[in-house]
Amino acid sequence: MKALILTDLQNDFMEGGALPIVGAQQIVPKINQLQHVFGLIVATKDWHPADHQSFVDQHPGKRVGERLEIKGQRQTLWPTHCIQGSKGAQFVSELQTHKIARIFFTGVDREWDCYSGFGNGLQTDTGLYNYLKERRVSHVFVAGLATDYYVKSTAMNAAKLGFESYVVADACKAVNLFPGDEGRAYAQMIGAGVNIIRSEVLLAPSPSLH
Ligand SMILES: [Zn+2]
Repeated sequence: MKALILTDLQNDFMEGGALPIVGAQQIVPKINQLQHVFGLIVATKDWHPADHQSFVDQHPGKRVGERLEIKGQRQTLWPTHCIQGSKGAQFVSELQTHKIARIFFTGVDREWDCYSGFGNGLQTDTGLYNYLKERRVSHVFVAGLATDYYVKSTAMNAAKLGFESYVVADACKAVNLFPGDEGRAYAQMIGAGVNIIRSEVLLAPSPSLH
């Protein structure tokens, strides 16, 4: 069984959102197309309490992109984004959602940030691993936002957890908080055994991925 994992396709990461990623909106039609060739689709949502410690507003005098040591973990500071229940945390309206079987929420703990759909070992397990295992998923394909954070961590965790892990490169966009982050992310993923493919391969008439 092959599963498609859609990461963080939320308003705050789109143009005009709190933490906009260049070109994020452009991948949504492609992601809708990709959904046609998968029998199982799940999604993640960044889902923060309003006073989340990754928010720069919680640390007066600090800037976005600075790293702070919070409870022994180095955390990058971001603009306030994806607050639980807010419009910014909703899926972008162009995303087809009727085939999404389950949504997994991350960043819910005030103290810990989390860039992986599986959880990060410091945060409670999101349940994604067991969910995929129960459905006998062997291959996971990750698409969405952002290549250099969420996509990378989710795909690398999947490989580490024993799944054949793929990233659909043209259905992802990077934040590039620092120049070269995207390239470094791909190098790290490849080094961790993640396969990088393009959507054309999946959208070709065969084989079926159901
Ligand atoms: Zn976040």
